[in-house]
Amino acid sequence: MGLFRKRISSSDSATTSASENYSALAELTLNAITDGVLLIDEIGIIKYANPAAALMLGYDTPGDVLGLAFQMVLRLETSDGVPVPPNQNEIVQAIALGKSFTTRDYILISAQSERHAAISLTVTPTNGIHSDKIITFRDITKQLEEEHEQSEFISTASHEMRTPVASIEGYLGLALNPQTATIDARAHQYLEAAHKASQHLGRLFKDLLDVTQLDDGRSKARLVPVDIVAVVKEMASGHEREMEAKRLKYSFGAAPAVTGVKQINPIVYAAVDLDFLREILDNLIENAIKYTPEGGEVWVNARGDGDKVVINVTDTGIGVSPDDAVHIFQKFYRVDNSQTRQIGGTGLGLYIVKQRAEAMGGRVWVESAFGDGSTFFVSLPRLTDSEYEQQLLAYQNNQLAQAQPAAPMPESVQPAAPLTPEAAAQQEANHFPSINLNNSNNL
Ligand code: ADP
Repeated sequence: MGLFRKRISSSDSATTSASENYSALAELTLNAITDGVLLIDEIGIIKYANPAAALMLGYDTPGDVLGLAFQMVLRLETSDGVPVPPNQNEIVQAIALGKSFTTRDYILISAQSERHAAISLTVTPTNGIHSDKIITFRDITKQLEEEHEQSEFISTASHEMRTPVASIEGYLGLALNPQTATIDARAHQYLEAAHKASQHLGRLFKDLLDVTQLDDGRSKARLVPVDIVAVVKEMASGHEREMEAKRLKYSFGAAPAVTGVKQINPIVYAAVDLDFLREILDNLIENAIKYTPEGGEVWVNARGDGDKVVINVTDTGIGVSPDDAVHIFQKFYRVDNSQTRQIGGTGLGLYIVKQRAEAMGGRVWVESAFGDGSTFFVSLPRLTDSEYEQQLLAYQNNQLAQAQPAAPMPESVQPAAPLTPEAAAQQEANHFPSINLNNSNNL
């Protein structure tokens, strides 16, 4: 619009021609692009709109929106269909604070046609807190559909492939078990390598499945109030056998075993999604085991810290350099050095940990010295004793309300009498896919 020409007229004659060319080019570009661009002043009045912005907002020409407050023309709702209040949303806040901001969380409703379009929107301040701001927005409806299809495909494929991989892992486990198979030492070596590779593949499929569900917004936290110290202790203890196998010294509690100081953890409460918490601990503890050489130590603890609960998984392993520490929570990021190259991994574990912690209102970070061990911290909102009791009561009432009146069980599915250990072992050998193959791999 006239914005560019006004600027030219105030330029001196020596630079007019160059400025004119530049401004004409800028205007041509803004007229041609399919992203909407708005320029607003410090009180949110639209000073400039390109044709794409007018079209997406539902107006005939850019001139129709000039002089209007941007909140009035940018009608938004959430992806759940809830209208976004025009004066109370993250965009308005970012503009008021003069901060850059990007979101993909909103649907833009066109003024005339009521057409709904998922958008990616960015706010960019031009200079200082009281200056003009640029709002750009792009229709990403098609992109989201494609991303959804892609994640559906990965999710289905990973899900389908986990079953045969679990089967291979199960058979290899049986072949390696002296109680179920007899093999010579060389075959044992080969099968051990195959077993490890199948476990790695199983883990990769599980991680891929989790990541696609995360990216698709399909996993939502279901929070349950718990005594967090007891829960973390119980979940972490599931890895004791793996640690023993690698001759790692394991300790849980207020102080690591090395100090020799025995302290009692006070009871601390938090509201957590138990599946998410298990995933976090599994990933952090499995990493501690993976990246700590034999004979090292792993220490896990959970404690209250003000209004937070802080969980730590500490190891005496290879550590993470400061350069890598800023990236390791990104999807598919793996540290590439002579030590990590020999250790298998997907680069997805810590990404999942971060997403899961954030979904429960928490955060995750690492403190580490390269070559000298690492501590991964997860902090979660803490519940006071009375909040815990209230939430527990509400949770129990909710469970009761949801419970269906139990129909009598047909005789064919009545619980069977407990098996003798021998019969259980035989049943495992016959039906390995139903065996809980390995808690840590959770296939
Ligand atoms: P991976 O499957 O590669 O272990 P993660 O996302 O779990 O993927 O971890 C990302 C990277 O962070 C790893 O490749 C590794 O280099 C580093 N890392 C994670 N945990 C530890 C640890 N406890 N000690 C040293 N490095 C670690």
